[in-house]
Amino acid sequence: MTPVTSFAGKTVALFGLGGSGLATALALKEGGARVIACDDNPAKMAEANAKGIETADLRNADWSQFSSLILSPGVPLTHPEPHWSAKLAREAGVEIIGDIELFCRERAKIAPNAPFVAITGTNGKSTTTALIAHILREAGRDVQMGGNIGTAILSLGLPADNRIHVIECSSFQIDLAPSLSPTIGVHLNLSPDHIDRHGTMELYAAIKERLVAKAGLAVIGVDDPLSRAIADSCEAKGVNVARVSVEPLGVKGVFADGETLVGVTTSDAAPIANLSGISSLRGAHNAQNAAAAVAIALALNVSPEQIRSGLHTFPGLPHRMEEVGRIGATLFINDSKATNADSTEKALKSFDDIFWILGGKAKEGGIELLTSYFSKIRKAYLIGAASDEFATTLGDDVPHVHCGTLDKAVAQAAEDAQTLGSPAVVLLSPACASYDQFPNYEMRGNHFRDLVRALPGIEAKGA
Ligand code: ADP
Repeated sequence: MTPVTSFAGKTVALFGLGGSGLATALALKEGGARVIACDDNPAKMAEANAKGIETADLRNADWSQFSSLILSPGVPLTHPEPHWSAKLAREAGVEIIGDIELFCRERAKIAPNAPFVAITGTNGKSTTTALIAHILREAGRDVQMGGNIGTAILSLGLPADNRIHVIECSSFQIDLAPSLSPTIGVHLNLSPDHIDRHGTMELYAAIKERLVAKAGLAVIGVDDPLSRAIADSCEAKGVNVARVSVEPLGVKGVFADGETLVGVTTSDAAPIANLSGISSLRGAHNAQNAAAAVAIALALNVSPEQIRSGLHTFPGLPHRMEEVGRIGATLFINDSKATNADSTEKALKSFDDIFWILGGKAKEGGIELLTSYFSKIRKAYLIGAASDEFATTLGDDVPHVHCGTLDKAVAQAAEDAQTLGSPAVVLLSPACASYDQFPNYEMRGNHFRDLVRALPGIEAKGA
């Protein structure tokens, strides 16, 4: 844990006890602050109480006693409209911050030179965070990984000069961290997402820019126009920028030339690593993530040999084009995290001869976006509530069958794929939310993995 000593003797309000909220309350208390916590869910309040955290209905509190409101990133700060606690704090002139800000203040106080890598972007945050943490650990570094991925930042070990914090930051977390100034700030890409929570695309981009604008080194993906503009704006302000792209670069950074990652400095361009055969980093989207990780590793003086070794041993993250096993020439891929057509597109791009399991609770637009990949699909297996809608889009272009459940879909797809007699992929990439049949995408992916591992003749991967 990183106790928050900068609030010792002060009283703070905290709203949102899910996820990182409880960890934050405990770190504040450990550092000597008085915390009064609140949540809409009485069970969360009771849980916090049981851990020694004072709770109260902050609607009726005297806000003049609070030096800050610590807000959970899941709670609206501005859009679609500010949460009542944010309104009360503003009315009382109380600052509103989050756990990343508390970490930044603690780092500034106890170890201002402690290496701090902060990673954001619309997509690829978790993969890049896990990948760079893995490369650094394999290279023998002391790494603390967390934030929006896994462990809450204040549950990690103390910042220290010989310890690297690798932290995934959502835009909501950045919005609550005004003094964020990482050693290396990483922004991967921008596409419309969470606009309901940020108002406009411009406001969303401005929040992402804040993570890199005050970084010692800004690693910025430049494959979309808004992110390119962020790189240009940072450079114009004198920030040290390294660009990342899946197109050739003529300026400092790392780019992917097919599967080869090339490092570009002011004096030369040299291949650093090759992604060929690394099953955890298939596809152009992962080339962007890997190029960003390489740029970070180079900046932290990891040798090219160590980088190559780290890339090759990266196990990948579950549910993101995760290879779960094979039977002969048939590969089984769990891409349950793909809850919309945009994400599923990455998987359809990455494979051929696909036996595609899809469906669930459809998102707006369904799978219309994916029609240009239909020629790669041998057969589709429909599950869940979206079956009829998706069957209409697949039409006569793609042979398809209504399976209803994931169990039936896996059994039928496995049998059909093996009958093909040549390399094939059974792919769960649902392009849908899971909650018509599963509590979340993790449970859906876990069930797929279990079903695949029970198939006769399966050679399971990572079992
Ligand atoms: P995040 O943490 O930002 O949600 P993840 O690393 O968990 O990102 O990846 C989630 C999904 O986003 C993946 O399954 C893939 O479909 C897509 N994705 C991953 N990396 C990228 C990228 N660099 N560009 C575009 N899409 C990506």
